[in-house]
Amino acid sequence: MAEHILEIKNLHTSFRTDAGVVQAVRGISFYVEKGESLGIVGESGCGKSVSMLSIMRLLEDNASLEADVLNFDGQDLLKISGKGMRDIQGNRIGMIFQDPMTSLNPLFTVEEQICSPLMRHQNLKRKEAREKALRLLDAVGIPSPERRLKQYPHELSGGMRQRVMIAIAMCCRPGLLIADEPTTALDVTIQAQILELMAHMKNEFQTSVILITHDLGVISSMCTRVIVMYGGLIMEEGAIEDIFYRTGHPYTAGLLASIPQKSREKLVPIYGTPPDLLNPPAGCPFAARCPHAMKLCAKCQPQFFDLGGGHRSACWLHHPSVKAQKGEVKLG
Ligand code: SF4
Repeated sequence: MAEHILEIKNLHTSFRTDAGVVQAVRGISFYVEKGESLGIVGESGCGKSVSMLSIMRLLEDNASLEADVLNFDGQDLLKISGKGMRDIQGNRIGMIFQDPMTSLNPLFTVEEQICSPLMRHQNLKRKEAREKALRLLDAVGIPSPERRLKQYPHELSGGMRQRVMIAIAMCCRPGLLIADEPTTALDVTIQAQILELMAHMKNEFQTSVILITHDLGVISSMCTRVIVMYGGLIMEEGAIEDIFYRTGHPYTAGLLASIPQKSREKLVPIYGTPPDLLNPPAGCPFAARCPHAMKLCAKCQPQFFDLGGGHRSACWLHHPSVKAQKGEVKLG
């Protein structure tokens, strides 16, 4: 059996606000195998980024986090101290964010920003860290690395800043890389180059990857397994082929129908809006938008139904009594 580098059971994250408590993540469980690339897909506000910030313990003060299990590489992250967590952040778990301008420090040069994690986590002397930084910039395809080391983030193009972020995220050879919408802010040609670079670095360093995106097209080119999130919950999980060709959840079917394809004359949007997580619905969070919703759906939150081979879907359409009444429902 494959070893898990990350294991999460029943994670809840909420935020106290003036309007009430926002239940951003409402009890999700998943794992990441060593060396695999897991995609997490869903609309904005579905809880995918908050789940990752919860794992990294990078939540704001108004947040509260609970979980039955939160294990990273054999370590219980629920019991670890603030200092222990800082040793993991940027060292054993690397992160790449959507907008490098907000995650790179505008006041420091590229050299400072790559060298400081190397000196802090790997105990390298300044000269050794600088040499390693040069090799890393070269490895992520940045020309004239000597010159770039002396520059500030605003002096670099968007694609180059994202390459610097990848160099920083990978500099300590992390066991897990979390990439949150890493290509959304880039134009299409640069997007493809950055995804290719991430795949190359993953293979080079044998890093496990969690790729968060709203774009199923990006997931299909990078990942072997996918989790689909909606309304703070996991709707469906499975191998990429299951999600694309044996879709088990109407929300996933809606996402797939909204991908531009040559064979499709027009895009089919998912009408309606996601649920209000200040007051989440008692039943299926997708019920108000689902073309297959039944009376039961609004009242009871569906359990997961095992569709075989690690494929599971939280939808009442898979319940044997519903199937007996309706037969197999064609999704999408
Ligand atoms: Fe639609 Fe009901 Fe399935 Fe939810 S449980 S996705 S509302 S059919």
